[in-house]
Amino acid sequence: MGGGVISRGAFIRAGALAAGGLLLGGRGLARAQAGAGVPQRGDSLDSLVLDGSDIVGSPFLMRGARNTKRVALTFDDGPSPGVTNRVLETLRKYKVRATFFMIGQRVVESPGLAKEVQAAGHELANHSFTHPTLGSLSADRVASELHLCQDAIEKHVGVRPSWLRPPYGSFKTSQGPIARSERLGVVIWSVDPRDWARPGVAAIQQRVLGGTAGGDIILCHDLHSQTADAAPGMIEGLLERGFQPGTLSDLVLG
Ligand SMILES: [Zn+2]
Repeated sequence: MGGGVISRGAFIRAGALAAGGLLLGGRGLARAQAGAGVPQRGDSLDSLVLDGSDIVGSPFLMRGARNTKRVALTFDDGPSPGVTNRVLETLRKYKVRATFFMIGQRVVESPGLAKEVQAAGHELANHSFTHPTLGSLSADRVASELHLCQDAIEKHVGVRPSWLRPPYGSFKTSQGPIARSERLGVVIWSVDPRDWARPGVAAIQQRVLGGTAGGDIILCHDLHSQTADAAPGMIEGLLERGFQPGTLSDLVLG
């Protein structure tokens, strides 16, 4: 990532937006804070998604406040028959909710599974329609990727997501207004066990449990069987350490 694409190192601490400080990316954060107010569950997303000529569109959320034991559990790239089902089973067992960033095309292929995720009380979110590197696409193509995924989830599941995670975390600040026009907050992550590289169940669990603090957004993928294998130990370990894993909206909006 570079040349205008948000890199993790470019993020700066936003301070006390929303009851204790979200970490937002982008520039003009002092102005963002001043105009933002405190978002509440049920508020218009406008209270979270900020704009202004010097802010350049949506902020990119890296993590929530640190003064909490809440963490967001997020699963990307599904729904995947055979893996998503097993993750759902584990979440049910531990009575934990999570946010699933779904690829629109996969929702079209496995609508029943997407509905199951929703019916189990989890949060569905947008991970584009075909999983391209959005940061390298034209504005029209980015708009189409976001819109097609929103439409697929709404058509097959009946909800319209509030959060976008750009594949590979690739999104330009100049593309922020495109997400905003779909009423999507842009979310990156703060804990990455790199489960997509299939490092083994123990490594996935250790990376999550060793690297998580309150307010973190944990990135996993309901695409690989190792992730489904690692999920019970990972969630049990988080609970043992006193964390309250939940959806992204649980973390951000309380
Ligand atoms: Zn992905």
